[in-house]
Order: sequence, then structure tokens, then C-alpha cells
Amino acid sequence: MTDTGDPVRAFRETLPLHLRAQLHETQRIGGLVYAATQRGWTIPALSTEATRNLGGIVNPGGVITSRLEHCARHDPPVKPPKTRPEWCGVCDPDTRHVLDVNGYPDAARCPQCHPLMGKVHA
Ligand SMILES: [Zn+2]
Repeated sequence: MTDTGDPVRAFRETLPLHLRAQLHETQRIGGLVYAATQRGWTIPALSTEATRNLGGIVNPGGVITSRLEHCARHDPPVKPPKTRPEWCGVCDPDTRHVLDVNGYPDAARCPQCHPLMGKVHA
């Protein structure tokens, strides 16, 4: 990573002014931004994640802080692998979700061959 400068400041600078004014707990946010960047989050990705769908939210500063807390504890999303695991032959081959009693894809991912099932973090 080519990090020059202060990630916290860089993060704040991605925010609209009215949101910057909402971030009172700067020190706490600083620790969260730093922790998230250590996990591989980029500042733009972090900013996008922290500020999405803030319309109508009464306390955007609090929402941003809690989203940063989430980012600081979770790895950034990775692009799904191009190749999917081999189809198990039982679930829906397109969605890789298990089939319900009527033969339609259910909400549950196939534990055998859904691409995301093999990457569960402990
Ligand atoms: Zn399957």
C-alpha cells in the first residue's frame, strides 16, 4: 500500500462538509479508519461504505461511526472468483441456492457449492 499522509484526514476530506461537522468523536473515528485501512480498506471504499444511504438518517455521525466500526472488524469485499466451485448436482445450478420443496431456489446458499460458502471467516 502506498500510504502517504494521514488516512483519517484523507477520509474526512472525502466527506461532504455537513457530514464532517457531524463527526464529533474524531479520535475514535481516527482509530477506526486506521484499523480499517490496516485490513485493506481503501479510503474511497471506506467513504462509500460509511456514507451510503444516509438520506433521512437523523444521526449520520453515529451511523458513520458504527459503519466504520464494522469496517474495522471486517475485511473489505473482494471480487467474487471468476470460477465457481463445481456444481454439486443437487441445488439450483444458476444461483447455487438450495431448492425448496417446490423446486425453486430457496434463500439459503448451498453449503456444498455456493462460491461464498467456502470462505467463512472463523
Ligand atoms: Zn450445490
